[in-house]
Amino acid sequence: FWQYFNDEMQKRYSEVAYNAWFKNTRAITFNRDTNELLISVETPVSKGYWEKNLASVLIQEAYAYASLEIVPVFKVNAAESGTAKMIAPEQNDDGIVIQRSVQTPNEFARDLKLNSKYTFDTFVQGEGNKLAAGAALAVADNPGSFYNPLFIFGGVGLGKTHLMQAIGHQMLANDPAAKVVYIQSETFVNDFINSIKNKTQDKFRHKYRECDLLLVDDIQFFASKEGIQEEFFHTFETLYNDQKQIVMTSDRLPNEIPSLSERLVSRFAWGLQVEITPPDLETRIAILRKKADGERLEIDDQTLDYIASQIDTNIRNLEGALVKVQAHATIKREDINIDLAKEALRNLRIVQKNRGLEISKIQEVVANYFQTSVNELKGKKRVKSIVVPRQVAMYLTRELTDFSLPKIGQEFGGKDHTTVMHAYDKIQKAIQTDVELKGSVADLRQMLDR
Ligand code: ADP
Ligand code: MG
Repeated sequence: FWQYFNDEMQKRYSEVAYNAWFKNTRAITFNRDTNELLISVETPVSKGYWEKNLASVLIQEAYAYASLEIVPVFKVNAAESGTAKMIAPEQNDDGIVIQRSVQTPNEFARDLKLNSKYTFDTFVQGEGNKLAAGAALAVADNPGSFYNPLFIFGGVGLGKTHLMQAIGHQMLANDPAAKVVYIQSETFVNDFINSIKNKTQDKFRHKYRECDLLLVDDIQFFASKEGIQEEFFHTFETLYNDQKQIVMTSDRLPNEIPSLSERLVSRFAWGLQVEITPPDLETRIAILRKKADGERLEIDDQTLDYIASQIDTNIRNLEGALVKVQAHATIKREDINIDLAKEALRNLRIVQKNRGLEISKIQEVVANYFQTSVNELKGKKRVKSIVVPRQVAMYLTRELTDFSLPKIGQEFGGKDHTTVMHAYDKIQKAIQTDVELKGSVADLRQMLDR
C-alpha cells in the first residue's frame, strides 16, 4: 500500500512538494492490534505538515485502496533512532495519536491498547444500537454482576469494537486498578501458540485468567480452531466462576460460527446476546455531526445530510466518506459545501448494501452469468457447474442485502441456514486465491449494483 500511496502522491503533487513531504518519509511498522502505522518523517516541520494536512489523505487512501483502517503516528527519524527514542512520549494534539498513559498503576493497564476515541461519550445512540449500548454501560458499571458474558454481534463497521472498548475505558475510569484485557481474537490465538513455543503458559494464563474484564473482539475467528476453543473454554470457566466480566463481539451469533464447540455456544448464551443493526438516517447524521464537531470541521447541515444519505449501513464507511470530503477540501483548498461533497464522493469506492435488491434478481443474474437456471440454483444437484453458481448467489445475497440467513436459505429451495453460512465462507475463502472466481464475483457485484 505504501508504494501505491507514494505513486499516487507523486502524481498528485508537484515535484517540489513531493520531495519536501514524501520523498524521505517512510512507513516503519504497522500494529495490527491498534491499527497504528508508524511513519518516520525527516523533520519536525514535516511532521507538523503531515499531521495537519496529509494524515487525512493517507487514512482515506488506505481505506479506499486497501480497506485498511490505519491510525498514522508520526515520528521524526523513527527509522534511525534507537529504542530509547521510540518510547519517547507521544505528541499529537488533534487526536491522531492513540496511546494510553504509561504511568498507569497496573501491569494490565500498561499493556492495554485502547483507542482513546472509543468511549461512551463519543458513541451516538440510535435505534439500532441502543440495546447494546445500554447493556455495555450496565456491564461497565457493574462488571460480573449481570449480563455475563455480554455477547455483541452485528455487521461490519456498526460500532462493536467501539462499544467494547468503551466498556474498558469506563471500567478503568471507575477503578484505575481494574485489570482490563482487550484483544482481537487472533491475538489470543497467537499468544497461545507463542506461549506453547516459548514455554510461557503460566504467563499466558496469568494474563487471561486473572483479569477483571476480558474483552475479546471478533470471536468468530475461533471458528474451527479446536485447541484454541479448548483453551478459551478454560479461560472462560475460570473468569466466570470468579465473577469476572467477559465481553465478546462477533459478526454473527455463536451458533452460526462454524464448528464452535457446543459447550462454548451454550456458555455464550448464559448472559446476554445483543445485536447491533445498521443505523437509520437520523443516527447517521448525528454520528457525522459529532465526528465533524470533534474534528472542528465546519460543515453545514445540508452537506452532512447529503453524506449521511450516501452511505446507508456501515459507519466506518460513513466516517470514510467524511474523511474523503475533508481530504478533498484540503487538497483543493476550498471550504466544504454540498457541491464539494458531491464531487469528492462521486467515485465512492464503497460497497453498500442494497436494501431494494431482491433475492430473485440476484438468482436470475447469477444464473444467467453462469449459464444455468434459477431452478438449478434452488435445487439440490451437487455437480460443480451448479454448486459454485449456487454458492456465489448465496454469497452475493449475504453481501448485498440485509436478509437473514434462514430467509436466504428458504429462498434457495428451503435450505438450512448453515448451508448458506457454509456457502458464504467457502466463496469468501475461495476468492482469496481463485483469481477467476474473484473476477466473476466482482463482475456480478457490478451488474447487481446498477
Ligand atoms: P465494528 O467493530 O462493528 O466493525 P467499529 O466499532 O470499528 O465497528 O466502528 C467503526 C467506526 O464507526 C469506528 O470509528 C467507530 O468509532 C464508529 N462508530 C460506530 N458506531 C458509532 C456510534 N454509534 N457513534 C459514533 N461512532 C460510531
Ligand atoms: Mg470491530
